[in-house]
Amino acid sequence: MVEKPDVGELTPPDRTLMGPGPSEVHPRVLRAMSTPLVGHLDPSFIEIMNEVQDLLRYTFRTDNQWTIPVSGTGSAAMEAAIGNVVEPGDTMLVPTNGYFGGRMEEMATRAGGEVVHVDAPWGEPLDPADVAAAMDEHQPDVFGFVHAETSTGVLQPQVPELTDVAHDHDAIVIADTVTSLGGVELKVDEWGIDVAYSGPQKCLSCPPGAAPLTLNDRAMDKVLSREEDARSWYLDLSLLEGYWGDDRSYHHTAPITNVYALREALRLVAEEGIEDRWERHRENAGALKAGVEAMGLEMNAPDDYWLPSLNAVRVPDGVTDTDVTSYLLDQYDLEIATGLGDLEGDIFRIGCMGYSSRAETVSYLMAALGDALS
Ligand code: PLP
Repeated sequence: MVEKPDVGELTPPDRTLMGPGPSEVHPRVLRAMSTPLVGHLDPSFIEIMNEVQDLLRYTFRTDNQWTIPVSGTGSAAMEAAIGNVVEPGDTMLVPTNGYFGGRMEEMATRAGGEVVHVDAPWGEPLDPADVAAAMDEHQPDVFGFVHAETSTGVLQPQVPELTDVAHDHDAIVIADTVTSLGGVELKVDEWGIDVAYSGPQKCLSCPPGAAPLTLNDRAMDKVLSREEDARSWYLDLSLLEGYWGDDRSYHHTAPITNVYALREALRLVAEEGIEDRWERHRENAGALKAGVEAMGLEMNAPDDYWLPSLNAVRVPDGVTDTDVTSYLLDQYDLEIATGLGDLEGDIFRIGCMGYSSRAETVSYLMAALGDALS
């Protein structure tokens, strides 16, 4: 006999979220999520879909018609990008300088692609000269890079140089903008990015569940002229076109509440103004960076490629990273994260994203971290 579980009312702890995501959700987004459901083909929802697409274009700085929220987390948008653009037999060039380049590799391989690498150590950005050399050597069909590497706290500079090199070699450029969209300068069209995907739970301060994706016509032409269907039915963009394109016909039931949430989160971006929002992230994270440096701690990334949305701070000698993160969670209800992969044990990862990027959260973090390290 299966016993009836004795489960109480949901009372999650009230955390201050300053890890690598999710960030704190803006109260207006939470309110939008408690509004009534309509059907995913209701005329009022079709209007909401159009609004979300317009707001996403504004936030990505793109005119791409093909700009949609993918149902699922950032990895779903990532797989929609890679799994549709990479065809069996294609070669994809991916970076080795962080955790998420590795995930690009796994997805490209599952899509039937052959993967080649452009190397840089964890904690360093890609050098356009190395990308050019790898392009000359491998002549890839697709080039992926991570604009804001959450595992290392490195912001990839010189993006237009990278896309120029890729286009000189006729490769399609896919950018991971999960930790940059809405928090760090990003100009999809001006910088020549063909495909960009993101997640809502970082600088957009929205719960995960509907993940931004944009593709220009060149990338979409490649997708729509594939010889073999994409391997995922759910993420097949030629099928999703039926729902998000002109027809608005059923493909799957959209996560209505997550689309409401994304709409409100993106409305907040537009109200603030995208440039002002980038500036706010720089200012608050700048205070955080100055504060930890004043405590004698060292940032992992040099100033030239410091990533304001994700601050990687070196763990000082004699300190165990997990002791500090547990203490902050237990004593201060404050979440920050430890390192992963090549940087496991070496860094703290302190997010300063979206609604969590405020003067008061930074002050709280500084006081709590000071106490944890004393
Ligand atoms: N890419 C980057 C740079 C990320 O930081 C993440 C998540 O942290 C992802 C991709 C995957 O997103 P998700 O965990 O929402 O599936």
